[in-house]
Amino acid sequence: MSVNIEAYQNIITALEKKKVTLVAVSKTKPVEDILELYKLGQLEFGENYVQELIEKEKLLPKEIKWHFIGHLQTNKVKLIAPFVQLIHGVDSLKLLKEINKQAAKCNRIINCLLQIHIAEEETKFGLNDEELKEVLSQFANLEMKHVKICGLMGMASFTENMIKVKNEFEIISNLFKSNPDFSILSIGMSSDYKIAIETGSNMVRIGSLLFGERSKK
Ligand SMILES: *Cc1c(COP(=O)(O)O)cnc(C)c1O
Repeated sequence: MSVNIEAYQNIITALEKKKVTLVAVSKTKPVEDILELYKLGQLEFGENYVQELIEKEKLLPKEIKWHFIGHLQTNKVKLIAPFVQLIHGVDSLKLLKEINKQAAKCNRIINCLLQIHIAEEETKFGLNDEELKEVLSQFANLEMKHVKICGLMGMASFTENMIKVKNEFEIISNLFKSNPDFSILSIGMSSDYKIAIETGSNMVRIGSLLFGERSKK
């Protein structure tokens, strides 16, 4: 499978008009595919697995901005802290504390998004309403100088029912709008990015439309 250049150009043109950032999700795909999009000007790439990310980061141009979009374990934060641009899936105060600690060691401020649980599947990670409030209030008391919470991230249910998807996106979009400190709303993937943008997304994470289907890991 190779990169779908035409899809990339159509998506990027549509997103630029709406000032939506495209994170090209390159998990499981070879560095050659990433370079192909990089040569067209794409700089933001997203990865789900720490080991894969650090290997690719070593091999690829330093201008690339790496987004970590998977579920991050506290013991792996130190591996990505020196270079990661944005961590999308933060879902606990414990993880924020570790990110702050490792960012301090690198003399960096690491941008983070809090993950909100909007899908029906229990298996998906994320905070509910109350937990979000709790994490934000504790964060405010702790003076973590090396972490910046920039906004929210979420994943809708795995379903063909786009009304359901839209309703789920509305929940997270309302939480996003209710906090003036937030600037990034990361919702929308290959199957639902158009609905996400209608619902207020300003950052979409698209993989298979650009790089083709992934084989199961
Ligand atoms: C894999 C993944 C994506 C991209 O999914 P596609 O359906 O291939 O666009 C987006 N966000 C997260 C969190 C992912 O794990």
